[in-house]
Amino acid sequence: MAYDYDTGNIFAKILRGEIPNDTVLETEHSLAFNDIGPQAPVHVLVIPKGPYVNWDHFITGASAEEIADYARAIHAVVGKLGLEPGEGGQGYRLIMNAGEAGVQEVPHLHAHILSGRPLGKLVAAG
Ligand code: AMP
Repeated sequence: MAYDYDTGNIFAKILRGEIPNDTVLETEHSLAFNDIGPQAPVHVLVIPKGPYVNWDHFITGASAEEIADYARAIHAVVGKLGLEPGEGGQGYRLIMNAGEAGVQEVPHLHAHILSGRPLGKLVAAG
């Protein structure tokens, strides 16, 4: 599948330093920052630094190094925020939206890490 990456998207602007972000953690290939419109007390977005539209684009196009870095960056955010259930944390929800059915608004891959309260059912009725 071919994806056209829109270099004008808001996360591309964040990565270029054109608009600010509230950084939680940065690695060689990934950046985590607080969501500007939090849906829970903890709402962090984790993005790869490379130009990938969504998870499918990333997993088929990124290098093994980028993929490992991204997966570990998500885990590192969970650890940094003390959320890991096995470590006594309260747990979290990890969401990636893709395409129309997923209602993805920003066309640069991002994982939402949500926590800080019971989050209810996975999908709202509708
Ligand atoms: P999605 O619907 O999965 O594409 O989610 C996009 C997310 O990006 C939403 O939760 C927005 O609140 C968030 N967002 C949009 N602009 C910014 C920004 N400048 N900084 C941080 N988060 C943002």
